[in-house]
Amino acid sequence: MASLEHRTLSPKACGYCATTEKDKLRLCADCKIIYYCSRDHQVADRKRHKAGCIAVKKARALYKLEDQKLRSQPTNVFDLHSQLQNVQGSGHAFVDVDLGDYKITRFHLVMTMLDRFGAPGGCIVAVQEALDHLLEMNRIFDCDDIPLRDILPTIHLRLNGTQEAYDFVKWWAESLEGPGLEFQNTPNLSQKITDADALEALLELRKGRYMDLAHAVPLFLIKIRAILDLQAIQTTRRALRGTVPQEIIDLIADNLVSNIVKPRPEILWGHADELTWLIGMLKGQVKRLYKIIDGYNIYFWELMLKDPYAAAAKRCPYVSHTKEEACTIIAWNLGSWIETAGAFDMLMAVHRAVGNSSSAA
Ligand SMILES: [Zn+2]
Ligand SMILES: [Zn+2]
Repeated sequence: MASLEHRTLSPKACGYCATTEKDKLRLCADCKIIYYCSRDHQVADRKRHKAGCIAVKKARALYKLEDQKLRSQPTNVFDLHSQLQNVQGSGHAFVDVDLGDYKITRFHLVMTMLDRFGAPGGCIVAVQEALDHLLEMNRIFDCDDIPLRDILPTIHLRLNGTQEAYDFVKWWAESLEGPGLEFQNTPNLSQKITDADALEALLELRKGRYMDLAHAVPLFLIKIRAILDLQAIQTTRRALRGTVPQEIIDLIADNLVSNIVKPRPEILWGHADELTWLIGMLKGQVKRLYKIIDGYNIYFWELMLKDPYAAAAKRCPYVSHTKEEACTIIAWNLGSWIETAGAFDMLMAVHRAVGNSSSAA
């Protein structure tokens, strides 16, 4: 397995000296992603920064042009509030409007930002702006032909939105009945799901519901984050021999890797046996999901475990069940895995456990 060192997204800071002193930081006027604490540091970093900066600036200009074309139309298609009130059915603002160039240039901007500045362990400003674009595109388009659904959960995960990622995956799983043409449709906005229970039984196993590799992979990481959180709680409670003061509980809650366990005091305060049971239950889910993912794409785990960076570099348009699909899904998800401490170690443990159980069977 390649070296998969844990990295976190870098905060808003000077692109040269990394100072985070807020009142000193000025945004690069061209890319609008990288900050500098002074003119000197901007000049000093120019050689390194130039290529990415120009690429993002160009992508912004292309998108801006298409955006202005739409906004100059007699009816303001961006007046989302009135759009949403007028549109019957899906709730999306753009129904039956040809938005090819608008969609393509906006998505190109997102990809350029992520590729240039938002790689695993990259700049949080780039990933946050990418998420904002993706969320708005998801809200306004009823046809998801890009598809945004493959990327949104993993970007949520990179920005500590484990709950949001789960809600998104569940929203699609509950809305779409099966693969086919309807698969390109963004589910109805009025059926959007919030605060779903990420510890519940696997969505795959609900009768008649459809998922695929693009959503099963982030779901796998969501479950892993839940296990890591529960194990952290368990370890602390054991160290303190059961009597845990409120301050310690607060401290644990603040340091959890996900935002799915924190709002659930019954888990933080629950009986030790209950915690052990939950961890065991989730480990069972993860093993099952590992096999389900293997069923969706036989290349996925091999590529993920061998050298995910090399696989991600081969990102391309794909059809289901192919090596190309595996590489592209790895490319979308690698950031969220690298940025979750302990995720790859747990994947290795699951891989060994599933391997042992199937060879013994
Ligand atoms: Zn600086
Ligand atoms: Zn720049």
